[in-house]
Amino acid sequence: MYVCGPTVSGESHLGHARPYITFDVVYRYLLHLGYKVRYVRNVTDAGHFEEEGREAIDKISTKAQIEKLEPMELVQKYTNLFRWAMDKFNTLPPSIEPTATGHIVEQINMIQDIIKAGYGYEKGGSVYFDVKKYASSHDYGKLSGRVVEDLLHAASRTDANRTLEGQDEKRDQADFALWKAAPPEHIMRWNSPWGEGFPGWHIECSAMATKYLGAQFDIHGGGMDLLFPHHESEIAQSTICNGVAPVRYWMHNNMITLNGRKMGKSYNNVIKLTELFSGDHPLLEKAYSPMTIRFFILQTHYRSTLDFSNEALFAAEKGLKRLMDAYEWLQRSDDRWRMTDDGRKNADDGRQMIDDRRENTGDGERITDYSMETADQKVLRLLNEFEEFINDDFGTARVLANMFEIVPVINSIKDKNISADVLSRGTFQLLQRKMKTYVEDILGLKSETGAEAKKINGVMEVLIDLRKEARSRKDWVSSDKIRNQLSELGIILKDEKDGNMTWNVA
Ligand code: ZN
Repeated sequence: MYVCGPTVSGESHLGHARPYITFDVVYRYLLHLGYKVRYVRNVTDAGHFEEEGREAIDKISTKAQIEKLEPMELVQKYTNLFRWAMDKFNTLPPSIEPTATGHIVEQINMIQDIIKAGYGYEKGGSVYFDVKKYASSHDYGKLSGRVVEDLLHAASRTDANRTLEGQDEKRDQADFALWKAAPPEHIMRWNSPWGEGFPGWHIECSAMATKYLGAQFDIHGGGMDLLFPHHESEIAQSTICNGVAPVRYWMHNNMITLNGRKMGKSYNNVIKLTELFSGDHPLLEKAYSPMTIRFFILQTHYRSTLDFSNEALFAAEKGLKRLMDAYEWLQRSDDRWRMTDDGRKNADDGRQMIDDRRENTGDGERITDYSMETADQKVLRLLNEFEEFINDDFGTARVLANMFEIVPVINSIKDKNISADVLSRGTFQLLQRKMKTYVEDILGLKSETGAEAKKINGVMEVLIDLRKEARSRKDWVSSDKIRNQLSELGIILKDEKDGNMTWNVA
């Protein structure tokens, strides 16, 4: 699997979070299924040439001049920041993270092959790909749905960027740069058969994907904004060099909007990941944790657009907490809570009580008429659907929706509103196992509660259990001792009317 990686000329922003979290789940799921996956994600650290953006600027050189850093110092700084953010998102590191600057030789070789095959031409120290010639025998535009005639006959731009973009050098508007001659002020430059210059952006992905994954590989991922010209150009380059279309399955995640608007510098609504985590941005009402962002992204199918807003993120934060609280209780539970001698209720009672609670949760859960279903049957059905949904084009949103139907059942058992016996031992164990696989291994969600807080929660559970046991033996001395000594530490135990006990810090 190859995924287009970050351009490390600046800090990653919200828009970058989505592809890397999306393809992290793809990677995790393939590993879970037992596939041996080589996941290659490049780092674009050579100044890339934005043809569509009408600016042929070398982002890294320009930024280095502004920040008074060596270009590679700048590249290192933003690479470190990117990896830090990816770690916060709990994404697994790829198998290989090749850099564009580390593969200049491979890129030059590939360009030479393209010229030899008759699909590339040199002009003024730059090399361009001949789209018209390629399109005469290949389906250029197939992936992005662009009509090649429109591209070839696009009106020439007459603005000042013409020369910068090399429009005067190209045989056709649609041609794209494989190599650019470096103007004197350009810092990042390499020797090539065509003089000093730097590679075009598209060629780095073709060269590195071929090197590490071969002429043909299974999955190529990226954001939808890369469909054209980037991925279309990758196909053309690799097809000419390797004689075969490079990718079996293309996967593109849709874009993120912010309060209903496209994100972009011109809208002044680009939120950097560090700003998101700190809340330090005029559009943010508060800080949002990396797990909240991850969870929020997975709640929508990757091919749908996703709108960020404070309201939506706040709801995601609450939802994630609710899920993780139930999940953690479930993982901590063993058979201790099972009521075997008293209060055994039949499955119908259990179902009735779950339905009652669901109406009170107010989370807008899917209400389906499964009134004939017992709680046990319901949980089994919801769990079995996990595979169906994830196998259906990585339907993480539907898996999460099912989890939110399971959460009230877990909470009802946890709060002892229903007997644990509504679930058979087998179902309960399957629930524990499957939730662990999906929450942690596949969706990559983890609790953001610190290890210390977790330990204290665990210690409190032990104390509460001891006190319950003391009370059942009518050992009021021990029971009071536990309560009074905790009280001296500022921890208040509260006896609930259902015999349950809760605690809080005074
Ligand atoms: Zn790429």
